[in-house]
Amino acid sequence: MEIKELMKKATMFHGHICPGIAIGVLVAKYALENGFEHSPDEELVAVVETDNCSVDALQTILGTTYGKGNLIHKDYGKSNYNIYSRKNQKGVRLSLKKTIFDNKKLSRDEKIQNLLSLEPENVFEIRNIEYDPPGMAQIEESLPCSLCGELTMESRMMNYQGKIMCIPCYKEFKQ
Ligand SMILES: [Zn+2]
Ligand SMILES: [Zn+2]
Repeated sequence: MEIKELMKKATMFHGHICPGIAIGVLVAKYALENGFEHSPDEELVAVVETDNCSVDALQTILGTTYGKGNLIHKDYGKSNYNIYSRKNQKGVRLSLKKTIFDNKKLSRDEKIQNLLSLEPENVFEIRNIEYDPPGMAQIEESLPCSLCGELTMESRMMNYQGKIMCIPCYKEFKQ
């Protein structure tokens, strides 16, 4: 798919056009062109180290989505994107080069145009990484919390003084 079409698709989902979306589109485009196919299920896993705008482009274009559990956010505040293919058993890491926004005089639009005109190698440090993806999403039972009664995934329940409770109740109860 052409970069323009990818931008259009990602922008429709994201809500506005911004340099972040352009960066995410470049990540996704690179992945698609290098043996990582769009993921209707959990064929791909993206482990991203940022929660900024760019991640929405990965959700739209690569199909690595929050709801399917094949989008994992590590809250490091870094523009690093690790993508794994379960099908091909391979992984790639793209990290945004620090020189990319050196020209501070560029307007927002110019930044976007500039990004989209560059080769991926000029925007990111790119390297293959060991195939070491997080496990598949688990489907698990939910149980009612003994305090608020709301259904809560079993693995998120806390046991405090013999009572099984959800995390918010636990935090309140413990005080
Ligand atoms: Zn944005
Ligand atoms: Zn509760």
